[in-house]
Amino acid sequence: VLGCVTSVALQAPEAVPPFDNSAVDGYAVRIADTAEPPVVLAVAGTLAAGAPPDIPVEPGTAVRIMTGAAVPEGTEAVVMVEDTESLDGGRRVSIRVSPSLGDAVRRAGDDVCAGDEVVEAGTALRAAHLGVLASLGFKRVPVFPRARVGVLSTGDELVADGSPLQPGQIRESNKAMLLGLVEQAGASPVDLGLVRDDEDALVAALAGAASTCDAIVTSGGVSMGDFDIVKAVLDRVAVDGEGHQGMAWMQLAIRPAKPFAFGLLQPEGRQTAVPVFGLPGNPVSSFVSFELLARPALRQMMGHRSLDRPRVVAVADADLRRGPDAKIHFVRVTASFGPDGRVHVRPVAAQGSHQLAATAGANGLAAVPDGHGVTTGGEVDTILLTDL
Ligand code: AMP
Ligand code: MG
Repeated sequence: VLGCVTSVALQAPEAVPPFDNSAVDGYAVRIADTAEPPVVLAVAGTLAAGAPPDIPVEPGTAVRIMTGAAVPEGTEAVVMVEDTESLDGGRRVSIRVSPSLGDAVRRAGDDVCAGDEVVEAGTALRAAHLGVLASLGFKRVPVFPRARVGVLSTGDELVADGSPLQPGQIRESNKAMLLGLVEQAGASPVDLGLVRDDEDALVAALAGAASTCDAIVTSGGVSMGDFDIVKAVLDRVAVDGEGHQGMAWMQLAIRPAKPFAFGLLQPEGRQTAVPVFGLPGNPVSSFVSFELLARPALRQMMGHRSLDRPRVVAVADADLRRGPDAKIHFVRVTASFGPDGRVHVRPVAAQGSHQLAATAGANGLAAVPDGHGVTTGGEVDTILLTDL
């Protein structure tokens, strides 16, 4: 369930720690016995972590105790071994310090009390949460399921089986990338393969996918060409976000990734509609529109409260030039912390929507607003795609 979002709040069924225990390796003592150090006390025995605390600390004695062992009856403090000296082969101990009441004793419930709300509803579970839940004995927790997201590519020119390229053919590449992006979004990717530019084939592929997947991501076939079948098919078989027959097709005022198609499929016997994200075919456009449009939606489906990647106001270390065209340009950049503690960005060398190799080296999208761009030293809003 790592990365999944809790659907209910989780209460502690028990306390952590469950009993008072020693924070150090040392000796359990009484305060009165150690008031004037150094003092020598008889060692009544040794308690290891996991042992029952069955050796009481009687006046004038100490009990050797290990970190995490339950403190025995009579313990008022534990003195760490570094402040002691073992005498007579361990039968007695010299205590060099005078502890205060409760020193080095971890109280039951110090971490969590029974009944505490330990995880809020809507928490995206990180590794430490899993540790907390394990510390409380949870075996299963209610979370929003990972969305099963089918990914398919469209295009007669695409070759996916490694065979030699014939004139006009290219290798299919979006699917591997989109399956990876789906996984990075915390969803379960489902490979739906390659569909030719044939409407009936796509209808069949979508119908099959809609019966087994929670969402579908396609690439290609959504722009203004004659063979843009995703547009055509979604118009036939989908409803738009308002429930009207036909898809929602749009041209977004961004670059890259201008065209985008969206529709909902409602297969027989399924309660919830299956969204289809029709991403453009150019690999960089596919990448950017997945990040900006599909990823937040998939995260919302999986109960996340924070849908977007983190954004920072970064410093441009090189010019991010552009011309006015009434669009926001999402320039692929490398982002890193500078010595001033701010995030600094530089555009990757190639910015064409077919130049995925350069985009693969980017870890940020700088949102350069309409106009003439940002010059070196200027500020630019940047979406961070990775940890820095
Ligand atoms: P389309 O949106 O289908 O017109 O495709 C736009 C461009 O992206 C064309 O050059 C396609 O060959 C290319 N393209 C489409 N789908 C893929 C894919 N899955 N892998 C690589 N390139 C693709
Ligand atoms: Mg195509």
